[in-house]
Amino acid sequence: MSSDADTSLPAPRIQLTPQQWRAKLSPEEYQVLREAGTERAFTGEYTDTETEGVYACRACGAELFRSGEKFHSHCGWPSFFDPATSDAVILRPDNSLGMPRVEVLCATCHSHLGHVFEGEGYPTPTDKRYCINSISLRLEPAGGSTS
Ligand SMILES: [Zn+2]
Repeated sequence: MSSDADTSLPAPRIQLTPQQWRAKLSPEEYQVLREAGTERAFTGEYTDTETEGVYACRACGAELFRSGEKFHSHCGWPSFFDPATSDAVILRPDNSLGMPRVEVLCATCHSHLGHVFEGEGYPTPTDKRYCINSISLRLEPAGGSTS
């Protein structure tokens, strides 16, 4: 009896070997993006960022989230109520901590981004919380410097 039907994904458009990813990423980035680690709460550089712009995948550069969908969840990680586009991310069941969660992956390179939680009562259009590691993202500010 195999239960991996939900976890098998089509091959990512960007596919590197572990060695290639290690060369491209810092050890901290590798641990989160490629080994599904989690940065410590309230330590990420984008937790409270309100800068307008696009959050790209730190591993492959694909556009994942936008500042317009970012909200303050006070959970200690950058939180979004929706991805930039519905096909920017892949959702996958994750029972790794003995509790059912939904993992969020970059659709382009299948790097780990974080988890999504639903129905928590946040006053957002979707009541979803994409809880994403800052280290999985790279903010590209809109229009460069505006000051
Ligand atoms: Zn990616």
